[in-house]
Amino acid sequence: MPENELELIGQFARKKLSSEELYTFSLILCDNEIDRDNERFTVSALHELAKLFVGKTGIFDHNMKSKDQTARIYMAQVVSDSSRKTADGEDYTYIQAKAYMVRTEKNKDLIAEIDAGIKKETSVGCCVRDISCSICGKNIKTEGCEHKKGNVYGGKLCCYLLSEPTDAYEWSFVAVPAQKNAGVIKSFNPSQEKEKLAQWAKEYTDELKSDIVRSAASVIPGLQSDSLGEICSALSLKSLKDLRDALRMSAKKNLPVIRQLEVNDADNGSENSEYKI
Ligand SMILES: [Zn+2]
Repeated sequence: MPENELELIGQFARKKLSSEELYTFSLILCDNEIDRDNERFTVSALHELAKLFVGKTGIFDHNMKSKDQTARIYMAQVVSDSSRKTADGEDYTYIQAKAYMVRTEKNKDLIAEIDAGIKKETSVGCCVRDISCSICGKNIKTEGCEHKKGNVYGGKLCCYLLSEPTDAYEWSFVAVPAQKNAGVIKSFNPSQEKEKLAQWAKEYTDELKSDIVRSAASVIPGLQSDSLGEICSALSLKSLKDLRDALRMSAKKNLPVIRQLEVNDADNGSENSEYKI
């Protein structure tokens, strides 16, 4: 493995890993092709998403419970293929990512499966700020329009254009037999899954915020909860989690009453662990 890739992986790993301990593979995360929900990402959205997906872990076969079946993206780039056009007439453009796994006894079979050349189908979960109609350009969320996605108007298929992604959550990786999806890997983005993930992200954020408020009360008693709320709303999910963990650790040293809270937190933790990001 090239030294610079090993270095990229190094930022995410807790200990220094050697090439022999790692398994890496390439995958297509998503593209600008119209998907089965008649939606598609714009090319600029793909550029943003490529950045957002670096560092994110993915799961195989939607099995959120198996920790041994996770991989982490360590690099992602947008690639354009001018020899292939999308249904919309654009150059086919996709996010090509590289992911790594630490080789273990338990994921040996999975690695063999990927090596055997099984085609991969990826689904991604993310949030976008802007959804617009491909026919009239109106914002679906704020304005709405008379066009219906999937219908054809004046020979042009109406689809929803997804742009301005704000966050990327998990990606998953479904191994399907080679014959089924011969050719280029097709990526899709079921809206149901997107909604589910967006909903989960909201709940997770709220949970982190209330944890932060609770722990901060003992660690930084002088800080007003309004100010703390403002600070929290400016933070990313990852920063919120870091802040929560740090406050919890300090709170643990402070007060015996926190032990009670910790028990509750532990309960929450087990309920939510399958959605770990
Ligand atoms: Zn429209």
